[in-house]
Amino acid sequence: MQETIFDKIISKEIPAEIVYEDDQCLAFKDVNPQAPVHILIIPKKSIAKIADADVQDQNILGYLMLKAGEIADELGVKDAFRLVINNGEGAGQTVFHLHIHLLAGRALTWPPG
Ligand code: 5GP
Repeated sequence: MQETIFDKIISKEIPAEIVYEDDQCLAFKDVNPQAPVHILIIPKKSIAKIADADVQDQNILGYLMLKAGEIADELGVKDAFRLVINNGEGAGQTVFHLHIHLLAGRALTWPPG
C-alpha cells in the first residue's frame, strides 16, 4: 500500500499534536479542524479505507471505537460527540489511511453534509 502522510505522522517524520498513542493506534488533532474538538484516530496498521478492511481487522476496528469513547471522555466531550469515517473520494476521503474523525465542541446538525 502507498505510504500516506499519516504513516509519516506514525513514524514521527512529521509532527502532529498527539492526544493518545499505544502500540495499535494513534490519535492526534486535525490540522484543519472542523469543530473546536477535531481528533483523528488511526490504526498503526495500514488500511486504506473502511471498505478495504476484512475479518482480520475486526479487533482493531472495535478497538478504535472503544478508544474514541475514551478519548472523548478524556477531552471532556463524552456527552456530545460525533464519529465520522469518510470512505472514498466521493465521500470526501482525502487521506487513504483509515481514520475516524472525532468531532465535538459545537452543535452538530443532522443530516451531515
Ligand atoms: P478525510 O478527508 O480523508 O476524511 O480526512 C483527512 C483529514 O486529515 C482532514 O480533516 C485533514 O485536515 C487532515 N490532515 C491532512 N493532512 C494532515 C496533516 O499533515 N496533519 C494533521 N494533523 N491532519 C491532517
